[in-house]
Amino acid sequence: MNVAIVGGGIGGLATALAMIQAGFKVTVYERSAKLVDLGAGITLAPNATRVLYHLGLGPTLEETAVTPPQTEYRHYRTGAVIMRLMTKDFRALYGAPYLRLHRWDLQHAMITRLAAVAPGALRLGFSVDRLESSGEHVTLRFANGQVETADIVIAADGIRSAIRETLFNPAPPGFAGFVAWRGLVDTSQLPPHLQESAVAFGHGRHINRYLVRRGELLNFIAVARRDKWEAEGWTIPAPLDEFLAEFSSFDEGTRTIISKPVLGQVFKWGLFGRPWLEQWSAGRVVLLGDAAHPMLPFLGQGAANALEDAMILTRCLASESNPERAFALYQKTRASRVRAATEQAARRGERYLGEPNADSLKGNEPGEEYAYDAVGGPLGG
Ligand SMILES: Cc1cc2nc3c(=O)[nH]c(=O)nc-3n(C[C@H](O)[C@H](O)[C@H](O)COP(=O)(O)OP(=O)(O)OC[C@H]3O[C@@H](n4cnc5c(N)ncnc54)[C@H](O)[C@@H]3O)c2cc1C
Repeated sequence: MNVAIVGGGIGGLATALAMIQAGFKVTVYERSAKLVDLGAGITLAPNATRVLYHLGLGPTLEETAVTPPQTEYRHYRTGAVIMRLMTKDFRALYGAPYLRLHRWDLQHAMITRLAAVAPGALRLGFSVDRLESSGEHVTLRFANGQVETADIVIAADGIRSAIRETLFNPAPPGFAGFVAWRGLVDTSQLPPHLQESAVAFGHGRHINRYLVRRGELLNFIAVARRDKWEAEGWTIPAPLDEFLAEFSSFDEGTRTIISKPVLGQVFKWGLFGRPWLEQWSAGRVVLLGDAAHPMLPFLGQGAANALEDAMILTRCLASESNPERAFALYQKTRASRVRAATEQAARRGERYLGEPNADSLKGNEPGEEYAYDAVGGPLGG
């Protein structure tokens, strides 16, 4: 079966690796001419790393990943510890670790692996303009004028998926009422007591910070409420003084950290959502990752769910030769879990931006979601 994947993000690359491992012929079409470092961190819970280790990426990720011994929840103004979450031995509990990484270290590992196992499978500068289905084939028409055909198309084209809009839901994503800033700090610029994992919250805002890349960098994401937001994209630079003013009521340690981003650079973007979609496939085209089910970032499970999708979809296609039946099995396997995560992420967002006390943080301890096994768990459940 000749498989076209649209989108070379975490979901698309993981799907390509999983499908090649299962013996499929795969091409990934990515609209960007170059995949670049967006300067951000990512948390990978055991349900995500289980997939990445299965794809052979574990040793490479371990070269730079950080596992924090604990994460502290702190009062935004005083810095007082409200709750301390100790990192458990997740390898012993679930057979897979909890890792924090520079996002580029993850993407780079995936791109390098794909180039090794399927040279030429990733085609950059291919922006899908239109899909046309006829019988057992789908034709992909690209903005660069090229035309390709495939037996199935997996649309991993992100929250702004044009394929989703064409096939199912013409409404664009809606602003979720939160604005986020991100930055990286060179830890050599920080005193040792600030080189740690912590979330400071209160006053309708929170700042999550954690170490990445062997502890050489500290990643922070700061979130505040907003009524409206118009600009688009992940790479909109924000004036540093405007950002610092927004969080000026935070404790001194947090303010020290956020005042020192690498090159004085912070980026700002709006958080968006989409209504829940009941149907993820049409004929020989299926949605995956944020294209199918974007979720707010407060649970740290968006990429994890894209990785689970990648593994489950591959297993469904390997066990069921009719693609439409395989897509139905994939959605049946995934829908309730993804929906629960989406709703939990939204609830956590409310708690993070509510009153800073132990009650408002209840339920933040990881639960059974970390145990989910996309590699060997049952299909169809
Ligand atoms: C602030 C923030 C923090 C987060 N933190 C975490 C975290 O700690 N842990 C976690 O698990 N998740 C996290 N997430 C969520 C995670 O980043 C996303 O869920 C994940 O990146 C989705 O991957 P994807 O491959 O589905 O989409 P994307 O990563 O958006 O990739 C889509 C790709 O498709 C390409 N594309 C789009 N249109 C076309 C087209 N027409 N033709 C060809 N290519 C196209 C794009 O260029 C892009 O490369 C976070 C999200 C945010 C916003």
